[in-house]
Amino acid sequence: MDFLVLPAILLVISTVHAFQYTELVRYIDSHQEEYVEALRDWVAIESDSSNMLKRPDLHRMMEMVAQKLRPMGGNVELVDIGEQELPNGQTIALPKVVTAQFGNDPNKHTVCVYGHVDVQPAKLEDGWATDPYNLTDIKGNLYGRGASDNKAPVLAWIHAVEAYQALNMELPVNVKFVIEGMEETGSNGLDAMILAQRDTFFSDVDYIIISDCGWLSRRPALTYGTRGNCYFYAEVEGPKQDLHSGVYGGTVIEPMTDLIGILDTLISPSGKILIPGIREAVAPLSDEEWKMYQDIQFDLDNYKNKIGVNQLMYSNKVDLLAHMWRYPTVSIHGIEGAFSDPGTKTVIPAKVIAKFSIRQVPNMDPALVKKQVTDYLHLVFAKRKSPNKLKVTMVIGAKPWLADTQHPLYEAGKAAVKRVFDVDPDLIREGGTIPIARTFQDVTRKSIIMMPIGGFDDGLHSQNEKISRYNYIEGTKLFVAYLNEVSQIKKSGV
Ligand SMILES: [Zn+2]
Repeated sequence: MDFLVLPAILLVISTVHAFQYTELVRYIDSHQEEYVEALRDWVAIESDSSNMLKRPDLHRMMEMVAQKLRPMGGNVELVDIGEQELPNGQTIALPKVVTAQFGNDPNKHTVCVYGHVDVQPAKLEDGWATDPYNLTDIKGNLYGRGASDNKAPVLAWIHAVEAYQALNMELPVNVKFVIEGMEETGSNGLDAMILAQRDTFFSDVDYIIISDCGWLSRRPALTYGTRGNCYFYAEVEGPKQDLHSGVYGGTVIEPMTDLIGILDTLISPSGKILIPGIREAVAPLSDEEWKMYQDIQFDLDNYKNKIGVNQLMYSNKVDLLAHMWRYPTVSIHGIEGAFSDPGTKTVIPAKVIAKFSIRQVPNMDPALVKKQVTDYLHLVFAKRKSPNKLKVTMVIGAKPWLADTQHPLYEAGKAAVKRVFDVDPDLIREGGTIPIARTFQDVTRKSIIMMPIGGFDDGLHSQNEKISRYNYIEGTKLFVAYLNEVSQIKKSGV
């Protein structure tokens, strides 16, 4: 080696390692109140994507995201993703997607952070202890709809970039953002936008980061898999109108009886899926996986207490986690057309539609599941020799997603967690579905990491949703540290 080159190399190494973490932490800690105020402003917007009457609020929410990003000097755009067709045939504008870019150094990695700022519906009358749209701090917990899912994590990412900028530190990687407003209702329009921008906005993206889920316990976690979901309607139609059981009961073959009969053939009382072919498709549990589940901090009694049951489907940790994350399940959600008001109406409903879903795991294929379920239900229905009509439709077919936990992106995640929290993260999967992960993977072919900062008890989608100040602020530090760790990944690691 030419010895004259050595000092230059040492200089490069020393700048690479000059990560001023302490300064960043100090900055984040001293701006905690501003971060909470920013979250308060965002939570105050009722950005409910399922309620058409709230669409103007949702548009305003997207505008607020852009406003937050614009002063930071990046390239910020509000991308029109078209219109949504309503069940009545009318159309309504979809909320624009906010994209932003900070830094475009070709020698650096480029990460793309995905998040959403729409929320599930919430009303005080639903049983909230506080106004869901007025962020309320109770003993260090910040209560409000969307606080944890997903407004605070999005803000934490923005604040992480802002902290580097405020301290005049160069961003260790280029950072892009994709923030949408339709996640809670199925990310309408986003797939098409990702596809349309695959060769432009996404062309130089190396890694995609999603922080739209939570930890499993008090220990920080990295998420490496989500289940998909196939959602079905099973409709049984009989007489041309609803009938009275006092007059017609005993003479007609009731659609509801048929429907309950076939629903009961989907899953056994012990949780075994009875639809032929479904269980056979599931990837077998490996020894390593079994060991990973063994090491995860998870308290069955806490879990039981949290949901208020005294018995679970499985009584040991590994079985329970495996069935939460990596086995399919059938859930029956409701029956449209059934009498469900208080009182004792003696109606025989003429048409009833069951809603049920099957969570998808590797190596299930939603297209095949659709056929398996439809064929099976028609078969069991035929055995009843009912004159009623059965129609089965699959309305959602979202694939599962699974990442490699040995990938440099996850190794970087482990290092960042270790630096900020001084523990190793739990490597967990998510029982729910984040369909956009799969779209990112299929369309961009980039590696994805899910790095949650939400607490295990944040109550996403339910009453009294919250995020703790601890998770919000330490989460911001985690993101700051993670950007630095990602910059250390060798280019060949892409
Ligand atoms: Zn979410």
